[in-house]
Amino acid sequence: QVVLTAQDVSKRYGNTTALAGIDVTVQTGEILGLVGHNGAGKSTLMRVLAGREQPDAGTVSWRGGGEWNQSVAARAGVRMVYQELALCPDLTVAENIALSDRAARGWGWRRAAERHVAEKLDRVFPGHGIAIVRRTSDLTMAQRQMVEIARALCTPDLAMLILDEPTESLSVDATGQLYAHLRELAASGVGMVLISHRMQEVLANADRIAVMKDGRIVDTVAARSTSEQA
Ligand code: ADP
Ligand code: ADP
Repeated sequence: QVVLTAQDVSKRYGNTTALAGIDVTVQTGEILGLVGHNGAGKSTLMRVLAGREQPDAGTVSWRGGGEWNQSVAARAGVRMVYQELALCPDLTVAENIALSDRAARGWGWRRAAERHVAEKLDRVFPGHGIAIVRRTSDLTMAQRQMVEIARALCTPDLAMLILDEPTESLSVDATGQLYAHLRELAASGVGMVLISHRMQEVLANADRIAVMKDGRIVDTVAARSTSEQA
């Protein structure tokens, strides 16, 4: 079932064409990989799909609905995981969680959010020694990335994850743990868009791969599950 649709989407920054007429869909439970060289438009497409940026032309729609922006995306359960880490280093992990999610959910949610993220860390990344009472700056980059991912995984009514190089600073071990979990989530119906420059990862985990070049999708190939299920 197609949930997210981009139709003839274009985006320019000054004289730079970042996206030049993109058509793409993402289905429930599908992992769509985006690959292409630097500057191909992958990150821009992700931001547009996540409702963070409006295209200059074309449309993005969720389940055939009208407007698509950050708050509509948040209500739909579409969550982006950035490559750049958004945690404040001077605060503990728990404080970061409370700070980021409180505004949207109210004070009563704080404890629950901390507990959910701590449980998610234990479940998805066991054995990495992440205590949420620790100051963020005391964590390694890998541990911080795991916290970011766990936070995104705790999004209430998560419907789609948009992941920009989620394994950039993760060990092989943690990368394996992440994809095992993502594939479980996908099997439960959560759609995903995944950018990684690690081709092996994309080949092994995406259902479909869109190859981008100069703001266009120049090829779409079926990957993992199609061959496995065939
Ligand atoms: P990728 O993620 O594939 O490396 P991007 O989407 O980041 O590609 O970039 C596509 C093109 O758009 C590049 O030429 C990049 O320099 C340009 N671009 C992306 N974001 C911006 C921005 N905020 N301001 C100006 N140019 C941008
Ligand atoms: P209350 O404020 O009534 O005690 P909670 O704060 O536990 O309720 O959460 C309110 C709603 O948000 C519940 O539906 C709960 O399942 C959900 N929720 C709370 N924290 C998380 C989380 N980290 N991840 C996913 N869902 C959450």
